[in-house]
Amino acid sequence: MTDPMPETTHLVWYCRQCDKSCKVQPPDPDQVACKCKNPVPGLRPTKVTVMHPPKTRPMHALSDEEARLRALARKGTRVRVTFEGEIADAWQWSSAGNRGLGFIVKSPDGRTHTVDVQQPGLRIEAVSDDEGDEE
Ligand SMILES: [Zn+2]
Repeated sequence: MTDPMPETTHLVWYCRQCDKSCKVQPPDPDQVACKCKNPVPGLRPTKVTVMHPPKTRPMHALSDEEARLRALARKGTRVRVTFEGEIADAWQWSSAGNRGLGFIVKSPDGRTHTVDVQQPGLRIEAVSDDEGDEE
């Protein structure tokens, strides 16, 4: 779906005084971190591969989704967190007179999440077949 990010391999010399990069070949001022007046490059360069995120999208333009998420990113905002997955396992537990169910839900990325249905506010429901393809 996404193209692999272009990469550049640089040779980086680290300054022996501050341990930060002081010389980069091919030159890339963004990667020079050393601020010493007289940097002392180490003898051997280190190969560093840098990924370049695609620059096609202008930096100032927030996508609708980013804008939406930013608007939520405030303490105290009431949200509902949902994700779809598949029940990978379920069990019944009982302890000290209480009992309940626990679920392991596998999300589409293959990770599993333990879901405690006793958690306040948590709701787990079936996704019907024709609904599952949305979004
Ligand atoms: Zn330095």
